[in-house]
Amino acid sequence: MRLIGPEDMKAFRCLAGACRHTCCRGWEIDVDEESTARYRATEGAIGERLRANLETDETGTHFRLDAQERCPFLNGEGLCDLILEMGEDALCQICRDHPRFRNFYSDHVEIGLGLVCEAAARQVVEREEPLRLVTLEDDGVREDVPEEEAWLQAAQSRLLALAQHREASMPERIAAIREDAEVPELSLTEDHLDLLMELEVLDPAWHGILSSMRAALSAPWLTEGMEKPAEQLLCALLCRHLAGALEDGAYRERVLLCLLSLEIIFRASAVLEMEGREALIEAARLFSGEIEYSDENVGALLDCLSETLEESGGQ
Ligand code: SF4
Repeated sequence: MRLIGPEDMKAFRCLAGACRHTCCRGWEIDVDEESTARYRATEGAIGERLRANLETDETGTHFRLDAQERCPFLNGEGLCDLILEMGEDALCQICRDHPRFRNFYSDHVEIGLGLVCEAAARQVVEREEPLRLVTLEDDGVREDVPEEEAWLQAAQSRLLALAQHREASMPERIAAIREDAEVPELSLTEDHLDLLMELEVLDPAWHGILSSMRAALSAPWLTEGMEKPAEQLLCALLCRHLAGALEDGAYRERVLLCLLSLEIIFRASAVLEMEGREALIEAARLFSGEIEYSDENVGALLDCLSETLEESGGQ
């Protein structure tokens, strides 16, 4: 089995105490079974603290968040007490992995950086060279690839190549992607914003951003000089979301999701009190937390895009 991912994957560094939006706050932290057993057997004061902060319900075991929804091991300096006391190897799977995401195929696992992390979003937005997916690990074991997986992998490679065709303008590249995937032209509308307003919200500021975007929907969203960040974000979105089509069969909806997500990120960046790439990094981080990291929210957008495809008569 091979592990495939961005060439610069290993350059990722967590900002730890310098992170402004720590991932150790605001959402449930699921603890895998192996780590739960290890934590329950840990001796000493840290073991007692671990046991006091694990809670199990019908969905599994989690860390008991405090009143501010902070992980109980996130200390006042923004550092993790588990790492400080037991080393990085003590982390449970989700904490070791984050912000990396994995898509599973029969013959390889594809890894990427989730935009919800400000350091990951910066790495994506500021990458100058085209994203290159390379083999990061290989144990030499080979598996057969089912036809639908081979088809999807080929489609993803084609769309990435079209997104990275730097001789063409970004609108031309997007048009080429639409043509390849046979999806209609689509722009963000008031209806999309209404839908986004109805979805589950993580950061209350998101609603204000959506409201501000409403007033500027007729303005062009792809700002001059931002083609490279647009390319990198689009590639990150394609790598993250296309694989889901193996489960739900919604390949064309997912292509539209990536294109619409790119527009949402750019339009959100335009209403933030920041400029240029900094605004884009912050908008990508916000968007990812609000949409990408919620299966329900992604599902609601896919349903909406499915209707779009139906209305367009399959064109
Ligand atoms: S959001 Fe990213 S940079 Fe911040 S603490 Fe989490 S992994 Fe580190």
